[in-house]
Amino acid sequence: MTSRKRFIAGAMCPQCGVEDLIYVVQTAEGQSRHCNQCDFSQNLDDLTPASTTEVVGDWQPIKLRD
Ligand SMILES: [Zn+2]
Repeated sequence: MTSRKRFIAGAMCPQCGVEDLIYVVQTAEGQSRHCNQCDFSQNLDDLTPASTTEVVGDWQPIKLRD
């Protein structure tokens, strides 16, 4: 099983308030967010797409014309 840690620049932990120590882990089950300083963790798959704007995907706008 592989998992990747990706730190989110400028993200603040909602539990202990530390900045730049929040990281996202991608696993086979999905994405979850964790704090490197406290025990905060959150499953991003439980959130609605509107509240995960800080997670940038591969989405691109459709080009209607040049
Ligand atoms: Zn924390």
